[in-house]
Amino acid sequence: MSTELAYLTNPFCFEFDAEIIARVTLSDGRRGVILPKTFFFPTGGGQEHDTGALGDARVIDVTIDDAGTVVHVVDRDVTATRTRATIDRARRFASMQHHSAQHLLSHALDDALKLETVSANINIDNPSTIDLAVGARGDVDLTPGENLANALIYEDRPIKSYFISDDQIATIPFRRPPKVSGQIRVVEIEGADYSACGGTHCTRTGMIGVVKIVKTERRAEKLRVHFIAGQRALEYFQNVHAIVTQIARQFDTNPEAIGEAVEKQRDALRAAQKELEEFKAERVTLEAQRLVASTQVIGSIKLATATFRHRAPQELRALATLLQNEPGVIALLASYDGAKLSLAVACASDTGVSANELIRQQLADIGGRGGGDAQLAQGGGAASEAQFQAFGARAVELIRVSANRV
Ligand SMILES: [Zn+2]
Repeated sequence: MSTELAYLTNPFCFEFDAEIIARVTLSDGRRGVILPKTFFFPTGGGQEHDTGALGDARVIDVTIDDAGTVVHVVDRDVTATRTRATIDRARRFASMQHHSAQHLLSHALDDALKLETVSANINIDNPSTIDLAVGARGDVDLTPGENLANALIYEDRPIKSYFISDDQIATIPFRRPPKVSGQIRVVEIEGADYSACGGTHCTRTGMIGVVKIVKTERRAEKLRVHFIAGQRALEYFQNVHAIVTQIARQFDTNPEAIGEAVEKQRDALRAAQKELEEFKAERVTLEAQRLVASTQVIGSIKLATATFRHRAPQELRALATLLQNEPGVIALLASYDGAKLSLAVACASDTGVSANELIRQQLADIGGRGGGDAQLAQGGGAASEAQFQAFGARAVELIRVSANRV
């Protein structure tokens, strides 16, 4: 039993008296109702379904089967045989603006740039997409297509829909030949685009408001074009404008000068980072000297230990690298960030002790990971404050064992 698709002839009917002629349970357990005639758009042709209400029940999904039966999926039972139906207007209108915008943009990209649309998706919450066949063409500037589409919006051309039989196909200058046979619905943007389409559309191009490409993505031989239109485009502009204005305020400048301000700040940051690196290198050299001067002698070994908080592992490594060249010195270094313990071990070659072996024993205590060679090793793992506090005593203990061995 096929449902009369009343939205095809009146896409602006958002409220109607619905007659319920059947109730069904879908294979996934959801409840559905069937009407002889509906203004609810079911998912299809790249356009998302409508939502709304049938009496007290929410219509959460709308599907159509091969026989043309539209099922209104509801969140609760609809017991009445007649009830008021309402379609969520904003959602449907967003669909209409984007669907008409898609036909228009596909036409404009074809007309201005000879780029053919091979598929499209009309989305409500995310930008809609058009896939263009670009083959081996390199970067394409789509601006002429975008401009042409908007020029056709300013002209406020009528958008008409009508049915033809398949023997009339040759009389219509379709952008793409229809895949369907029998009765074919033509959506015509007057004098511009002719498409076979079962979607809901604006009745004039002016209703689209504006169409804006927001992103492109290369996908093998295709270019995916993300675009927004109408109310969504306005919301996007308002949102981006608010962000840009706020950033400009933070830079004490106007939106047009943000690029320059960001560039200046980037240069200043780079200079500061360079200076900071130099200071850090100097600090590490001083720290190495201080540690060498305050080593604890255990047998033939001079033990240097140091604990830090929130030191980056690469800084520990830099310090260990300097200490590995100090005769007789073994350095055990640790830094704790409240959850993770970072370790670095340096063994001068004349100590006969392996840094890799030492760090493995330390890591075993905390179940951490890491390693290195005889002179330099690094690692870390999750550790408690108590384990961090025990680091110094444990270091001495390990070196005593090593000193007795060599
Ligand atoms: Zn369409």
